[in-house]
Amino acid sequence: MSRDSATRIALIYPELLGTYGDGGNATVLAQRLRWRGLPAEVIGVPAGEPVPAGCDIYLLGGGEDEPQVLAAEGLRQNNAIAHAVAQGAVVLAVCAGYQVIGVSFPGGEGRIHDGLGLVDVETRRSFEQPVPPRAVGDIVVEPAPELELPLLLGYENHGGRTRTLPNGHGRPLGTVRKGVGNGTPDHTDGVVNGRVIGTYLHGPVLAQNPALADLLLSWVHGWLPELAGPPETEMLRQARLHALDVHA
Ligand code: GLN
Repeated sequence: MSRDSATRIALIYPELLGTYGDGGNATVLAQRLRWRGLPAEVIGVPAGEPVPAGCDIYLLGGGEDEPQVLAAEGLRQNNAIAHAVAQGAVVLAVCAGYQVIGVSFPGGEGRIHDGLGLVDVETRRSFEQPVPPRAVGDIVVEPAPELELPLLLGYENHGGRTRTLPNGHGRPLGTVRKGVGNGTPDHTDGVVNGRVIGTYLHGPVLAQNPALADLLLSWVHGWLPELAGPPETEMLRQARLHALDVHA
């Protein structure tokens, strides 16, 4: 049963975590609700402003090393996102955002900074020697089977490598078919822990993978009316898969 009140989508610190166009994830979520006749409200949260409680979905995007450090410092202050997650909120965090919701990550100068600890992962420049090159390019991920999603397509651009801590909760978002993702020997990308997802996929990821957008929305609504199209989305996905020489 869908509810009547607007679904509240918080776009966190777009000036710091908006370098890679991930703000488009908010647009996609809101539009997929509106196409179904359901109200949606996108709440941009500027850096320095308190993160509102009571949103349904919190979105964090990618950013450069130093803005990412500033974002983590701001978000750690009252960790409103952790409180919201404890109340059942959904989080989608991409690249720098993914690193920030983990336990720790490197800043530009190499120092290790605390993250929000929403997921049991840590990021470093490298877990091996020599330090691998920056991961830049197309990425294709086979989602974990229990998510029941088609192949995830996106673009990655990151220096960090991210691994799950020993005995950490959560599981990878999926297995990398093309690209780098977490950059760990298990060839995984991202993490899913309850209703919190971290991933290296830009694109924006929800524009390229509407089924993932609908999965997040179903976590909020429980049930969603079927939505066909628009047909261009699937045509573009097929064209991309073909160009990448990846078979679904
Ligand atoms: N600054 C981080 C890194 O390079 C994240 C980059 C990004 O968000 N694309 O690893």
